[in-house]
Amino acid sequence: MRHSFRNTRIQERREKVEPIKDTFNRPLHDIRISVTDQCNFRCGYCMPADLFGPDFAFMPKEHYLTFEEIEKLVRAMSELGVEKVRLTGGEPLLRKDLHELIEKLNRIEGIKDIALTTNAMLLPKQAKKLKEAGLKRVNISMDAIEEEVFKKMNGRNVSTKPVIKGIDAALKAGLEVKINMVVQKGVNDDQILPMARFFKKKGITLRFIEFMDVGNTNGWKMSSVITKKEIIGLLQQEFDLEPVDPDYFGEVANRYRYTDEENEVGVISSVSDSFCSSCTRARLSADGKLYTCLFATEGHDLKEAVQTKSHAHLKAELAGIWSKRTDRYSDERTEETAKNRPKIEMSYIGG
Ligand code: SAM
Ligand code: SF4
Ligand code: SF4
Repeated sequence: MRHSFRNTRIQERREKVEPIKDTFNRPLHDIRISVTDQCNFRCGYCMPADLFGPDFAFMPKEHYLTFEEIEKLVRAMSELGVEKVRLTGGEPLLRKDLHELIEKLNRIEGIKDIALTTNAMLLPKQAKKLKEAGLKRVNISMDAIEEEVFKKMNGRNVSTKPVIKGIDAALKAGLEVKINMVVQKGVNDDQILPMARFFKKKGITLRFIEFMDVGNTNGWKMSSVITKKEIIGLLQQEFDLEPVDPDYFGEVANRYRYTDEENEVGVISSVSDSFCSSCTRARLSADGKLYTCLFATEGHDLKEAVQTKSHAHLKAELAGIWSKRTDRYSDERTEETAKNRPKIEMSYIGG
């Protein structure tokens, strides 16, 4: 009974909210919210330690949107089609009392899924509170299982142990867990098989992410990308895999099932096989700028609007932004755009 009541409610809602579409007919469906640009790691592909040193000018904390302001924005977005929220950063768990934001977002009618992307260092302390507040899923970033490779990649000499503790704390709290591994040629490509073995055994889905040219600081070159084809080829040398159909429009990972295990592995092929035509994601920076693409140069500043304007005005402003959207950077990427186009940093815009 309960199940059918829920379905009727979703149906009623669907009839009410016709998602706003952009110029390529892509609906607005997901919002990724960066809650801070600061981080306790210095992954070379995201915040290289030599450039993000002790004197780096992070965003002043008084510029952050408050949780109430984020809630107001998400409420307006939910009436334009947004159903999924992902909290990210920087390291989102550095933002004080993040569970209070989750509680607020969980109360918004129309928001069906709240997820978090984290490096897991602070999960042992926070996982239970986050789950109780309404968080459903965590994507945990871990780029190597071998100590020395991991220590070097996170730029802070941190061992894998606290990350594995964080993973276990999330599982214990009842959160659904997936692992994200960014693969860089000559840095951690030798970790593809050891990571697959480790997480297959642990029963956790691992997703490999092609190294992207986000921002202008990570020294990206096409030759440092290990492609989806190469990753799958390598996995198939050891495992029997079969492709799995996408669960929904706009799913970013290509998924494969291990034939001998109830577990999957995936690849996010943003470079070799881009998926702009089904991109339904907007991004909000911690200081209130809305970006319609991960590779955008400019954001739309919503801080003043959220502080001074009505719900109806905010909704109209958001609708205006999305309906003019033309972004398809990854479909058009070349070595030249990667090098010369000014782009916003991943740690600022949120992955
Ligand atoms: N600090 C959190 C974490 O690492 O999970 C959240 C923020 S991080 C920017 C979000 C995701 O972006 C992580 O999974 C990270 O691996 C990924 N990422 C960062 N820079 C990337 C790059 N240049 N190419 C591909 N993925 C990247
Ligand atoms: Fe921090 Fe995440 Fe970027 Fe690594 S990928 S530096 S953990 S924000
Ligand atoms: Fe979406 Fe931009 Fe990435 Fe294309 S490049 S998938 S439009 S975020």
